[in-house]
Amino acid sequence: MRPWESNIRKVVPYVPGEQPNQPHMIKLNTNENPYPPSPAVTESLYTFDADKLRMYPDPAAKSLVDALAKRYKVEPEQVFTGVGSDDVLAMAFLTFFNSGKPVLFADITYSFYDVWAEVFRIPYQTVPLDERFRICKEDYYRENGGIVLANPNAPTGEAEGLDVVEDILRHNQDVIVIVDEAYIDFGGESALPLLDKYENLLIVQTLSKSRSMAGMRIGYAFGGKDAIRYLNDVKYSFNSYTMSQPALALGVAAVEDEAYFRETVHKIIQTRERVKQELRALGFVCGDSQSNFLFVTHPKLQAERLFEDLKKANIYVRYFKKPRIDQFLRITIGTDDEMDELLDFLRGYISIANDNR
Ligand code: PMP
Repeated sequence: MRPWESNIRKVVPYVPGEQPNQPHMIKLNTNENPYPPSPAVTESLYTFDADKLRMYPDPAAKSLVDALAKRYKVEPEQVFTGVGSDDVLAMAFLTFFNSGKPVLFADITYSFYDVWAEVFRIPYQTVPLDERFRICKEDYYRENGGIVLANPNAPTGEAEGLDVVEDILRHNQDVIVIVDEAYIDFGGESALPLLDKYENLLIVQTLSKSRSMAGMRIGYAFGGKDAIRYLNDVKYSFNSYTMSQPALALGVAAVEDEAYFRETVHKIIQTRERVKQELRALGFVCGDSQSNFLFVTHPKLQAERLFEDLKKANIYVRYFKKPRIDQFLRITIGTDDEMDELLDFLRGYISIANDNR
């Protein structure tokens, strides 16, 4: 090792899902929305005045903050924005988890949480989900430096009721509890009604999934005014201009088109419920996902092998070679046609597997 290498902040990075670029692929591996963003976003993109790019964007992202505050009926001072919810979550870890006590999150959850904890040197403990991948709220009744709950959870898709979220908040009022609601619009119950009651609650959401804007990178958080001020202090100590001019313009357009948002989310939920039934009919075991993906296992199929065979057929899904979930696949909900192609492939695959037995 060269001398300068002994002073490196060494980390094992988060591994994002593949972004392949095949002409006829069916891409169900990174929970993207299969429908385009709102036509208002397209309009805003085409009419964007490139001359604006000469100037720095508004560091306070006021237009987007105001649009979010209006849509979600909170005060603008309760809104923080960032470059995707990954950026918002990273800032929140840095801002709030400094007690030296371990931060708690589930053993099976978004695999970025432990990476941020490691990179920021935040101690953490993982809390096992039960055998049905559900939270045991009593496990969070202990001393800790903060809590992170993904609700609905990823990669399981399971949503906990607001009673569970509130119970955990009530037992942990001395630390910040982050509720990561990246997938909330697909069926879960948002913790927003609890904001007035718990100033230690931080709700993180994103335009990446339910508003088809993953490529634009816009995430946001709702919290008490004090918590949001602390978050902004850290953001301004890092990078003042996180939201680009196009992100602000297109983000506002996306947030304001409520009708299109409802229509596309509704379509995805309908497809999800149909595909759930069809997969179960094929022998897959599949929980009650409330998100835009399904987490499935099949008692007679090897998940990793199926993942590779799907890939050969240009169908991309997500596989995690990790304890407890290495026999599962996470399948994003695509269009009805895409899901039909997936189901056709699986029907053929299972009948061949049966013939070879
Ligand atoms: N939270 C969860 C639970 C996620 O699955 C994701 C998507 N990878 C994110 C946050 C981050 O999404 P984005 O940065 O696109 O908002």
